[in-house]
Amino acid sequence: MSTEKKTEAAEPVRLRPRRPCPICGKPSAQKYHPFCSARCADVDLHRWLGGHYRIPGSPDTDAVANDDEPES
Ligand SMILES: [Zn+2]
Repeated sequence: MSTEKKTEAAEPVRLRPRRPCPICGKPSAQKYHPFCSARCADVDLHRWLGGHYRIPGSPDTDAVANDDEPES
């Protein structure tokens, strides 16, 4: 009694189509999925935060702020 059912184990490899970066349209990078770079990920983040979250004149305030004060 060999009732071997042909199980569909051999599933066709699904080639996941790489979704382009929603910001600039470039192929997304695995590291920054679904964006192509941290830059675009940041852009998207700001979009979520407030749509037009733009502060003219302050390119990068984080670089100036230094919370890591070494205790002497
Ligand atoms: Zn991008």
